[in-house]
Formats: sequence, C-alpha cells, structure tokens
Amino acid sequence: MLRDLPTVRGAILYESLKGGNVRCGLCERRCLIHPGERGFCQTRLNIEGRLYTLVYGAISALESRPIEIKPFFHFYPGSSALTFSTWSCNLTCPWCQNWHLSRKAPETKEARYITPEGMVALAREHGDQGLCVSFQEPTLLFEYALDVFKLGREYKLYGCFVSNGYLTLDALKMLKEAGMGAINIDIKGDEELYRVYLKGAKEEVIWRNAQAAKEMGLHVEMIHLIVTGLNDKKDKIERLIKKHLGTLGPETPLHFTRYFPAYDYHQQPTSIGIMEFAYETARDAGIYYPYLGNIPGHRYENTYCPSCGTLLIERSGYQIRGKWLKGKQCPRCQRELETIV
Ligand code: SF4
Repeated sequence: MLRDLPTVRGAILYESLKGGNVRCGLCERRCLIHPGERGFCQTRLNIEGRLYTLVYGAISALESRPIEIKPFFHFYPGSSALTFSTWSCNLTCPWCQNWHLSRKAPETKEARYITPEGMVALAREHGDQGLCVSFQEPTLLFEYALDVFKLGREYKLYGCFVSNGYLTLDALKMLKEAGMGAINIDIKGDEELYRVYLKGAKEEVIWRNAQAAKEMGLHVEMIHLIVTGLNDKKDKIERLIKKHLGTLGPETPLHFTRYFPAYDYHQQPTSIGIMEFAYETARDAGIYYPYLGNIPGHRYENTYCPSCGTLLIERSGYQIRGKWLKGKQCPRCQRELETIV
C-alpha cells in the first residue's frame, strides 16, 4: 500500500472539510483537495479524507556546499551546509534554473529515502556546520525538515531554507520552532509577474513572510533573479529596491542574481550593465549590503563597510578569498556589521 512507503507520511498542516475534502495549509495556494486527488504541487495526496505528503525524506539531490552559494553572505560565513532537496514546486517559473528537480512530480524512481537520523549523521561525517534545504522549493519537504532541524539542533548544526517564500505563516513559525535559523527568500518581481507567470501567486505574500521571518528572529537574506525581458527594466528594479527598504530595512542583504537561459525561457543572459545598475541603485538608496551573483570575480560580490567603504570580505564565485573583519567590526571605522551571524 502507498501509505506503507517510508516517504509517505501524514501531512501536518491541513484542515478537514465536508465530504472527505481537505484544505492544505502548507503554502498560500491553500489547495482544496478532493479524495484521491493531489494538490497543485503534486506532493500532497488526499487519501480517504486525510492529507499525506509523498516526499518525506525522498531525496533528489544531496551535497555539502559552502553557505555562500545559497547565497547567504551574512550567516555563518565560510561554513558549509549539507544541502538537500526533493522534487516538484508550488510555483511555475518558465525560467527555472533548477527545472530538472522542480518540474518533476515525486514518483520518480531516482529519489532515495534517507531517515532524518541518516541525514544528520551524513552532515556530521562530512564535517558540515549546518543543514540546508534548497535546489527546489524546500517548503514541500516541510515535515521532514522539521524532524531534521530538530535533530540537527542537538548536534549544534544550524538549519536554513532557500525558498520562494510562498509558505504559510503557520509553516514558517513551526520551522523556526524546530530550529531553522535563516531563510533566503526569492522575490521574483511585481504583482503582475506573479499573476501572469506563476499561476496567480501573490507578491505580497513574499514580503509579508520576509517581514514575519525577521520579526520571529530568523536571519533573512533576499534574492532577486533579474531575467532579461521580464523584470530587467530600470523602473521595476527601482520599485523592488524601494519595497525592500520599506519592508525589511537597510540592513537586510539583497542579492541580485544574473539569469541564464534555462527550461522554457531562452532570452539572452542578463546584461552586466543592468546588473551593475541594480547594485548601484540599491547602494545609493541606502541598502547596506547589496550583492551581485552569477558573475564570478565581480567586485560587487564583496562585502564593503556601509559607513567607510572598506573592503571587509572578498569573494569570487561564492568562495571567500580574503576577510578583514575584526569579529563583526570594520577594522578602519569600527562600525559593527548588523547581520553577520
Ligand atoms: S503545498 Fe501548496 S501547492 Fe502543495 S498542496 Fe499544499 S497548498 Fe497546494
């Protein structure tokens, strides 16, 4: 029976309705799921009026990776995290850079089951300092992430998510309580982009969650993929920067990443000029820690002191090449950096 598989477990966040229907409460799609059917993301199945996840510990990819590659630049810099994922997604980006994982429904035979104990043991064997759910939307591994983070905390392993930010506040709160210390949230663009390309998802949910995550005490970094012909106009970038500042304040890092053609979207890679425009506009607007990504060796991958401009951390291709911070302080003007954990 399906329910006997180790990767099939009772879902935690849902509401039972009349007629055996259920309402999933894991992400803000809040799918109404009839008996025998699955939700939008294909990872949740209604079996006889109860909701099940089909991907508990069903691991599609697994690798120890530098935390900078997520990217997190202000959370345990220089550490490595055992990073893992499952299949599928709750959004539908035609330009998805990880489509080989996110566009697959979960039945795939390529998945292997790893217990939470096994995952934590692997992290310790590899010498990692943390655990990170990434590559595809980590919200879909919710029940498993709770168990892995709780166990990881006992061994002082940090937990983090690299997410599209479309989870519910209930899910976010439970992850925080289980030991998640940081979330990197991908803000894709404005309301129109979410409506047109992401099947009616809502931009405001992402900002709401980023703000709530900060208020809960999570470390937050934002990422914005600038996609040619989609969100690479100057007025759209200026609007996003304003929204970031107004919602999350100047101390929250904002990463602009360069797009390359992938999956179902084949425009040219983002121009370097527009990437630099984004960085400089963010910096001049008052964001302390803007960054560029996917342009290895660019000077805007580095961390500079927001007060005196001194180079504090030099990076190339997500590797730290040099570090001049004294603890959390700038060696020149003694300013303390707010968000280096
Ligand atoms: S996680 Fe989101 S997309 Fe998937 S079933 Fe639940 S509400 Fe629907």
